Amino acid sequence: MLSRRHFLKHTGTALAVSPVAASLLRSWPSRAEGFTSLRKGTGIFTQRGGTIGWLATDDALVVVDTQSPQSAADCWSGLQDRTTHALDLVVNTHHHGDHVGGNGVFAPHTDRFVAQEHVPGLMRQTAEGDKADDAPYPTETFEDRWSTSVGDESLTLRHYGPGHTGGDAVVFFEEANVVHVGDLVFNRAYPFIDVDGGADSQNWIDTLETLHQTLADDTILIHGHGNPEYGVTGDRADLLVMRDFLSALNEYVARQRQAGASLDEMQQIDVLDGFEAFDFDWALSLDNCIEAVYREQTAG
Ligand SMILES: [Zn+2]
Repeated sequence: MLSRRHFLKHTGTALAVSPVAASLLRSWPSRAEGFTSLRKGTGIFTQRGGTIGWLATDDALVVVDTQSPQSAADCWSGLQDRTTHALDLVVNTHHHGDHVGGNGVFAPHTDRFVAQEHVPGLMRQTAEGDKADDAPYPTETFEDRWSTSVGDESLTLRHYGPGHTGGDAVVFFEEANVVHVGDLVFNRAYPFIDVDGGADSQNWIDTLETLHQTLADDTILIHGHGNPEYGVTGDRADLLVMRDFLSALNEYVARQRQAGASLDEMQQIDVLDGFEAFDFDWALSLDNCIEAVYREQTAG
């Protein structure tokens, strides 16, 4: 029988380089399903794929990320119980299938889909490898900052350069003091470092530090994915856990390369010291992370 580690190693190795990785993540169920309210009309919806954030009040309705067609339909129907206000806009935090896959469910209700300017190109690139990713594209894009008012809320989107992908947006609900960080945080879970989609783990580390300095202790963070023990919401301290993992990963790969280890040899570890919590039954493995950073460090 294949050990779990062996199974993950061999199914996992292809993930980091495959354009279908986003589809795999999209189909990965999260454990706690449904709606959770956060603050001042904001909340989350979890079912399959990246966490959906929402703002639903008497005078505003905003959706951040859209998971899959099936779960987006459940999300839309639940939002109808929360407000009768028309859908103002949808934000996509990045191009992955488990964050844009349900765009089509919301398209009949709004023509405003906002994302960072690299997202449409990255969606096109992904669609070439996976015909299932044919969700409606963003209709409005921005380079590094975008904001609007919706009801009593001020919504700001920021792009801090490449991180998880080349087109990550962080979404600030300024009045509620709630921030959706997209997949910049896999909360105590091995992250997808999408090298083919423009990821940059070093700049990702810098971005997490910048965000940590920017946010307050009482800011509620919404994470794209999370270890069920820790959940998909938290506070700014979670940013430093993700930063420390990415730093330790980069240092490990650099040290191994200096010692002359091959990629396969450096993948012969079960966990990174201090990050044992990341090692649970999850779509991505430490091997994926090591391979992605190895590719970054050895890219010409
Ligand atoms: Zn993602």
